[in-house]
Amino acid sequence: MDAVDTPSSCAVGLRCIQCGAEHPLEYVLECRRCRGLLEPAYDLEPLRRLGPARAFTRRGFWRYHPVLPIRDPAHFVTLGEGETPLLEAPALARTLGVRRLLLKFEGTNPTGTIKDRSSATAVAAARQFGFRAISVVSTGNAGSSIGAYATRAGLRAFIFCYEQASAPKMHHMGAVASDLILYKGYYDDLIRLWDRMVEALPVFDGGASRNAYKQEGKKTLVYEIAEQSGFQVPDVVVFPVAVGEAFISGWRGFREMQALGWIDRLPLMVAAQSAKANPIARAFRAGGPLEPVKLSYTVAEGLACGDPAAKGEWVLRILRESKGLAAEVEDEAILETQRLLARTEGLYAGPTGVGTLAALRRLLAEGALDPAQTICCVISETGLKTEAPVASRQGEAFTYDRLIALVRDRLG
Ligand SMILES: [Zn+2]
Repeated sequence: MDAVDTPSSCAVGLRCIQCGAEHPLEYVLECRRCRGLLEPAYDLEPLRRLGPARAFTRRGFWRYHPVLPIRDPAHFVTLGEGETPLLEAPALARTLGVRRLLLKFEGTNPTGTIKDRSSATAVAAARQFGFRAISVVSTGNAGSSIGAYATRAGLRAFIFCYEQASAPKMHHMGAVASDLILYKGYYDDLIRLWDRMVEALPVFDGGASRNAYKQEGKKTLVYEIAEQSGFQVPDVVVFPVAVGEAFISGWRGFREMQALGWIDRLPLMVAAQSAKANPIARAFRAGGPLEPVKLSYTVAEGLACGDPAAKGEWVLRILRESKGLAAEVEDEAILETQRLLARTEGLYAGPTGVGTLAALRRLLAEGALDPAQTICCVISETGLKTEAPVASRQGEAFTYDRLIALVRDRLG
């Protein structure tokens, strides 16, 4: 009954974020008038009448279909993404001196990262527009995610990756994607070639720089945060930012819920970047324009983007208009935070995933954030794809008596 009342999608078109021009819900990546980026536009009135409890029925990621731009449920594709935990982190909060810390842990997604949300809508959109192939340039996570969802939907997946990707990520991409192609050189150079390829061939753009359908999938993250916190959203939410998909769509989601009257205030938005890929944090701090940076390797592979271009401008605009915060973190701080999280809460997240937490620590140390607030960090990936030598392979063939002595000694 509720399902009948709920429209499959409230999307009415695409709107240019620069000039406001309206476009139909077609496969279009840039404004036809000014080449600005596009975002889906919705008629949210049916949801206002239903309220949050009746707007989203059933289970799983696609329960948010009214606020996603895919019209026909026949095009939905799922591997069980979403519904990730929003965890209280009391031990870590005590260690950091924060009153209340929440972790939105995306490592439980099918390919271990937040990317599965945007892959679900990207592949659904590729189906909606009749594509038989999709492509993405990836440092590892997006490649395995797009590859998995494309294969699940019966599409070819052309995954382009640079040679330095971690071995576990390479294995994952090679296992699930139809076509894994390695590039020798810089990620940003590859992107420039690839952008022209997806315009020349019938291949759906699964990249992060322009596709409104893909980005929108990540908006479900903040709908979950709101539902899981009883629509009392955290005071502060820290997002990982490379190109800015999660940050931008998160802000859009919070604004939609505010417009619907479901939440009464917006959280402070924080953008976390790697110090090796910090164009947005740098421009924000300097109060100047966005300028690309030449990338060097960062352990937070998913944050490696030196030139976020128009998406980066969009993130900057949100940061400035909403009076948000940005922070950049060094690799050493990221790796130390990865160990701290594992040892305090038992949560093993990857370097990209803990970038937000490392940024929080920096902002707290600088006095830029009030530790009495409720702070939520988006932990975007599992640690199980981290490349690292094992600590020791030195075993011991112990007897029972030796075993008892060994554990007793350690118990103290
Ligand atoms: Zn425009």
